[in-house]
Amino acid sequence: MTSARWVAFDTVRAVHDSDAYANLLLPTEIARAGLSAADAGLATELTYGTLRREGTYDAIIADAAGRPVGEIDPVILDALRLGVHQLLSMRIPAHAAVNETVRQVRAAAGPGPARFANAVLRRVSERSSDEWITRIEAGARSDDERLALRYAHPVWIIRAFRRALAAEGRADELLALLAADNVAPAVTMAALPGLAEAPEGAEHTAYSPIGFRHGGGDPTRLVAGSGGRIRVQDEGSQLAALALARAFPVADGERWLDLCAGPGGKTAVLAAEALASGARLEANEVSAARAGLVRDSVSGVPVDVPVSEEDGRTRAAHGRYHRILVDAPCTGLGALRRRPEARWRKSPADVPELATLQTELLGAAARALVPGGVVAYVTCSPHLAETAAIVAEVRRASDIELEELNAREVIASLSASPIDLAPSADGSGRAQLWPHRHGTDAMSISLLRRR
Ligand code: SAM
Repeated sequence: MTSARWVAFDTVRAVHDSDAYANLLLPTEIARAGLSAADAGLATELTYGTLRREGTYDAIIADAAGRPVGEIDPVILDALRLGVHQLLSMRIPAHAAVNETVRQVRAAAGPGPARFANAVLRRVSERSSDEWITRIEAGARSDDERLALRYAHPVWIIRAFRRALAAEGRADELLALLAADNVAPAVTMAALPGLAEAPEGAEHTAYSPIGFRHGGGDPTRLVAGSGGRIRVQDEGSQLAALALARAFPVADGERWLDLCAGPGGKTAVLAAEALASGARLEANEVSAARAGLVRDSVSGVPVDVPVSEEDGRTRAAHGRYHRILVDAPCTGLGALRRRPEARWRKSPADVPELATLQTELLGAAARALVPGGVVAYVTCSPHLAETAAIVAEVRRASDIELEELNAREVIASLSASPIDLAPSADGSGRAQLWPHRHGTDAMSISLLRRR
């Protein structure tokens, strides 16, 4: 446990100090420390839980310390956050949580900071989690601030989620969504269609026809042993790729393009679908490093998928395509379950900048379609400014006439069991998946066909 605490501490420090991504760094740190499976689980819970609930813990620490967290040395603050998580959200005895954290602070920062950490954590340990939430909520200036403290989400994200749910007439699902974001998602796998099958005894996913859950054991072994034909992939991502490939029957000799492909999860599904239907797939990714991941990702599919490394806004014009996937760079607000620090790192200022890029990418893809061709515009964000507004703007401003297909019907037709996709108040055919309703990331999927 002691080394699990240090792995968690080093990872949380790297997230704050050098903008590391916990989901990428933690596995490396766990391997480097040689943690047992049990300690790896503890390190993961400590790291993810602490980062997810950071806003709430900071309010508690500020109260217990009698000063704003901005006035606490960042090294000590991170140790305190981890200590508070142990005290309030894990079944670790208070004396162990306090003593181990104080020992950590002493080793990292010296005896004075250790005495400070001891005093703060002892104060935190005097109340239960519920008592602390009630206490800090009392200082909130609005209902949304209260929700922000209780569910550990920034206020601007809460408001964006409420607007997106209200667009489906389901604003009453907000609390369920916020709660779902604070729970680690179950690992979902995909067996590439026509190339692999779910192993015997695996539980098939409710919606994606290629998805399954691996009951126990290490999924990395299954993935490695499959030659790239079985992969870890969110069920919503599987549905997004299949919605494009299966929106209507594939004609002979179709050309497909995956315009923003890195790291290539959906490219692999599209490549398998292209192989089965005789289509030719090309992929593009602006970042050279991520383009390399796309090449690795399709290596298990016995078909040539050329991968270019250009800005999608110019790349699309190099050909004419029957199907294009624009899985656009976005805020990622639909994937907060997997990226524990993301909610605190994003800001409302990111949205307009991304919206401009998203509009330009979708516009370029629309221009590259043959008549009758279809583009899937996909984001792992439910923010209306990145979803409905982009589609509406491209349809309004483009000289290409685009008909919106009913993505909800397409997905329902793929789905192994009935899927509750609510129609949007704007009358569009957009499909919005949700963690609390579907157990997927909050993927938005629109299908636009060129007349
Ligand atoms: N489809 C991918 C998958 O399923 O693995 C995920 C795509 S991710 C949401 C968006 C990708 O777009 C990122 O890899 C990012 O580097 C890339 N990107 C960002 N700006 C781009 C641009 N101007 N042109 C092409 N790709 C871009």
